[in-house]
Amino acid sequence: MASPTKLTMCSFCGKSHAEVKKLIAGPGVYICDNCINICKSVLEKELNQDNETSPAGSLKVPKPADIKAHLDENCIGQDAAKKTLAVAVHNHYKRILHDQQVAESEGEVGPHHEVEIEKSNILLIGPTGSGKTLLAKTLAKMLDVPFAIADATTITESGYVGEDVENIILRLLQASDYDVKRAQMGIIYIDEIDKIARRTENVSITRDVSGEGVQQALLKILEGTICAVPPQGGRKHPQQDYIRVDTTNILFICGGAFVDLDQIIQKRMGSGALGFGAAQHFETLSEVEKQQVLSHVEPEDLLTYGFIPEFIGRLPMTTVLEQLTEAQLVQMLTEPKNALVRQYEKLMWMENVSLEFTRDALKELARQSINKGTGARALRALLERLMLDVMFDIPGDNEIHSIKITAAVARGDAKPLITRKADKAAA
Ligand code: ADP
Repeated sequence: MASPTKLTMCSFCGKSHAEVKKLIAGPGVYICDNCINICKSVLEKELNQDNETSPAGSLKVPKPADIKAHLDENCIGQDAAKKTLAVAVHNHYKRILHDQQVAESEGEVGPHHEVEIEKSNILLIGPTGSGKTLLAKTLAKMLDVPFAIADATTITESGYVGEDVENIILRLLQASDYDVKRAQMGIIYIDEIDKIARRTENVSITRDVSGEGVQQALLKILEGTICAVPPQGGRKHPQQDYIRVDTTNILFICGGAFVDLDQIIQKRMGSGALGFGAAQHFETLSEVEKQQVLSHVEPEDLLTYGFIPEFIGRLPMTTVLEQLTEAQLVQMLTEPKNALVRQYEKLMWMENVSLEFTRDALKELARQSINKGTGARALRALLERLMLDVMFDIPGDNEIHSIKITAAVARGDAKPLITRKADKAAA
């Protein structure tokens, strides 16, 4: 350190060595203890601001291809739906980030500032157990945004018995630990959306019979509104304090099986235009052909199905999911990271037991689940039932070396084949 002289003074505040407690020298400059403290607090403040980025600031928007690749890791098949979702979700969050940046730059606008990108909620049409919920959930997890699931059949217009739309938002709020800013960027999956179509067969005594009232109620949160959410849920109460949640940036993914929608499409287009024989009757089409028909869905078909035009307008991205084939169900059992069979293998491995499913056993399970008509959902239940006895018996039996599940076991015609350690040693 340079020796203090009369000329030695803090280069920042100008105080002399005599006026400060400590003066530190750099090459040709000095800084006093006072100024060091001031610098330190300025730095701390600025660094903290950086860490306290807005919820959107912490959000990274992956490229559509990366989103799709991530969906591929977790979900079998459904290529078209994954692609549509990847693009829609990418654009959705890019729009939020952009709006946030414009707000932060206080009015500095780019060349397309007059163009407003509208929110694109998504409609997934596909049979039960084809992966609609799974895709929505996987997206939310990937983006690290709060996620909630609602069932359209339980929603009612205010005043009817059932659930108010505010409760859906409450669920998202709960998923974000009541962090309103984070909740406002979350994803809500609304299942069984087809059940609120305005159709005569959807008559229920507990709720609005037409379904239109529910569509109206949902419409508000879909298009963006400030929702007054009762923090404890339940009915609104005049004395209660509400949490205000803006739904403008919440992404809604709606899903449903839309039974008979294919018939509406076929009627509109005619068999000839769909590439089938002009006189071919709908009932004679195969499942694959019906699936093909669905991929031609247009907003007008949803109108015929019983949705009000405003509601359809709020779900501009529509995509169709396919019924999983037997081969895909087998794939589903074994390939994804958390595939069911892998989970059971791991559980058994923890008991020092090796578990094997034969290929035929997996096919048999897939076949049974297709017959039940609930896609992958039935598969889980079937496997759980099949494994129940094994899971019950193994932990108490140290002598078991391995277990084999064959097609006969899957059919319920045989017991799992158990090899004991002693048999193994003798072999
Ligand atoms: P949906 O919402 O279409 O009725 P889900 O997404 O709830 O179906 O699927 C039910 C179960 O089947 C879940 O456990 C899910 O993980 C699994 N599943 C469904 N479709 C797929 C798929 N395409 N790939 C992997 N797993 C799937």
